Amino acid sequence: THNQDLSDVLTADRTHHLHPWHDLSAWREADPHCFTSGEGIYVYDQDGQKLIDGPAGMWAVQIGYGRREMADAIASQVMELPYASPWTSTTAPAAQLSERIAELAPGDLNTVMFTTGGSTAVDTALRTMQFLNNRLGRPGKKIIIAREKGYHGSTYLAASVTGKERDKSCFDFEDRLVRFLPDINPYIRPDVMTEAEWCDAKVADLENMIAEIGPDRIGAFIAEPILCSGGVIIPPKGYHQRTLEVCRAHDILYISDEVVTGFGRLGHWFASQEVFGIEPDIITCAKGITSGYLPLGACIISDRVMDRMTGADHDVLFPNGYTYSAHPVCCAAALKNIEIIEREGLLGHVQTVAPHFQARLKALEASPVIGDARGMGLLGCLEGLLDAGRDTPLEVQRTLGARLDAACEARGLIVRPLINMCVFSPPLTISPDEIDAMFDIIEDALTEVE
Ligand code: PLP
Repeated sequence: THNQDLSDVLTADRTHHLHPWHDLSAWREADPHCFTSGEGIYVYDQDGQKLIDGPAGMWAVQIGYGRREMADAIASQVMELPYASPWTSTTAPAAQLSERIAELAPGDLNTVMFTTGGSTAVDTALRTMQFLNNRLGRPGKKIIIAREKGYHGSTYLAASVTGKERDKSCFDFEDRLVRFLPDINPYIRPDVMTEAEWCDAKVADLENMIAEIGPDRIGAFIAEPILCSGGVIIPPKGYHQRTLEVCRAHDILYISDEVVTGFGRLGHWFASQEVFGIEPDIITCAKGITSGYLPLGACIISDRVMDRMTGADHDVLFPNGYTYSAHPVCCAAALKNIEIIEREGLLGHVQTVAPHFQARLKALEASPVIGDARGMGLLGCLEGLLDAGRDTPLEVQRTLGARLDAACEARGLIVRPLINMCVFSPPLTISPDEIDAMFDIIEDALTEVE
């Protein structure tokens, strides 16, 4: 029976399945939420409850659930050829996808190395910097400047450039090679400072760090266009352009981590150029590249970098890659996903509905427990009143995310809790009515947690 099956599933999970970021103090007791199917922006859970998927899985399911043509494209590639070694051969989906991505990416970012996800794309980008500088005979130019609250993944090197304090407690990191710039969140900007002054201060942080370490020792700066897992932190106007100029002046590679912002989240294929006006040296992406239907990531490298790495002078082996780099089935899924985004005009759709989404989000600041409601495109974050001089004890404020999540789920909406914050990134297909349904639920849920 259904209930018997379900209890077997939950028992198996509790007994054998270690999830990402699992709280090991309670993992044998807590029942995970088990999802069984999805359609459009909705998922259904073990109890048959229909929920709006506020985070689109994990900022990934751009085209929504239940796409028959994705299933068909995947199935047909599986039957034709499920695998080929990317070392010794290519396949049509891999070659075509690399060409499509080069077309969609800004400027001269024309070379694509496929990876298994976002972390491995970041790892590849950072190793590319190491390779470049070794090849150019400057092995001392390897330090990576990253940012507090940045999230770049969970391989050793990607985790090493991740600047979320809470994630740093239990492992060792490559800290010889990494330095962190302080938080850029305008929400913590002192009242006496304007946005322009805040931008000046944050660019100065980078300049000062470069001066202190010495530009000859710094290989790369890595930044998300918007710090997503760090709480949807939008940089002050001009920040990315100015930090890029600083990097260029010192021959420091600018790596833009678009794992979340790529593939339509802000209404463009990539945010770097079209939203923030920069042409980075390397872009990393994943998630929305297949709308999460299958795992895939990509590290997109500019001609400027490739030209300096290649050469006929001697053996220039680039020993990086994975068994599942350019997996033909994943590449076929990505091609179909891009086709759907184009055919349905989803980038334009995001641009059309985003103002309404952002207006409804901003209105939530009326709640007495919300300190800041911010976002861009179909990205949003609600931040509770931490340290804002409220009477509510900090321990209670810190649980805001979890409490709001529970109250929303009871009303048919999944949100992603992050300590005192909740973040939202629904499927790009969401309609204005569905946006209203989502924010009506949050408004109602907030009255419960206030
Ligand atoms: N970079 C960014 C900006 C991300 O948000 C994430 C995941 O959330 C990653 C990298 C890591 O991607 P993955 O989990 O696919 O390895």
